[in-house]
Amino acid sequence: MATEPRLSVCLTFDFDALAVHLGIFGTQDSQSLSRGEFGPFAMPRILKLLADYDIVATFFVPGHTALAYPDVLRRIHDEGHEIGHHGFVHEIPATLDETTERKVFDLGMEALQKTIGVRPRGYRSPGPEFSPHTIDILVENGMVYDATLSGSDFTPYYVRQGDTVSLDSVFQFGAPSSLVAIPFSWDLDDWVHLEFTAEWGPGKPCSAVEEIWRAEFDYAYANVPGGVFDLTMHPQVIGRGSRLEMLRRLIEHMSSRPGVVFESIITYAERWRNAHPLEQWRQEASVHVRERNGGPAIHRED
Ligand SMILES: [Zn+2]
Repeated sequence: MATEPRLSVCLTFDFDALAVHLGIFGTQDSQSLSRGEFGPFAMPRILKLLADYDIVATFFVPGHTALAYPDVLRRIHDEGHEIGHHGFVHEIPATLDETTERKVFDLGMEALQKTIGVRPRGYRSPGPEFSPHTIDILVENGMVYDATLSGSDFTPYYVRQGDTVSLDSVFQFGAPSSLVAIPFSWDLDDWVHLEFTAEWGPGKPCSAVEEIWRAEFDYAYANVPGGVFDLTMHPQVIGRGSRLEMLRRLIEHMSSRPGVVFESIITYAERWRNAHPLEQWRQEASVHVRERNGGPAIHRED
């Protein structure tokens, strides 16, 4: 029987290209869009770095990017990397009504499937805020995992379905679904650290980001055997030369540790799901499984 890796590293790239500027920042001018164009421009460098270390990675791609750069997407797929769902024009689910959210999910899926000929089985939300319907849509569409939630750092868990949020009564926990959560963290995301935006200001130096990412990896390696280190990057951010060299140093550091494997999220998630069947996992004491609470209404002074 094969032994479980000590730690799985999933390098993930949100290939947003133009869609993030259109869908999140609401900009349509040539300068803003050209920042998105840097993503496909830098893709050969990123693919070369991955090939240098024989790494299989995961790329989350909006349908809009698949239609704008089908040749780039096909190359990523042909080089053996996983393609995951990432909306259509990088919409934030929480801003959509249910009908629109379902339509956007279908459009994104259709564009990816048409371009690479395979139906993606993983999802990362473009703009992390879920709507009350997002988890239902992912489960109904047979997604194996989501890589957006932050309820742990390096330990997967099954996502609850049917939580009821109210400010006037006790929080109602739903039941675990079949959807595997692969934890996401802003700390392990390149955009917020490195990229200038008018709202967030200038980025940090690469050395500071390297220090944070390396320390997080070292903790995971020492303390979370069998866990997953999910690093979120964007080709238009990490693709600059100095940043890619920082990533190369980090890859060297991680790969020097015995028992570390680099793999796609779907490979990790399916192995984790097989090793932790839902019914068995529910019996284990996990903070993510809670009894549905029939407690009293909260009385707030007004
Ligand atoms: Zn994105």
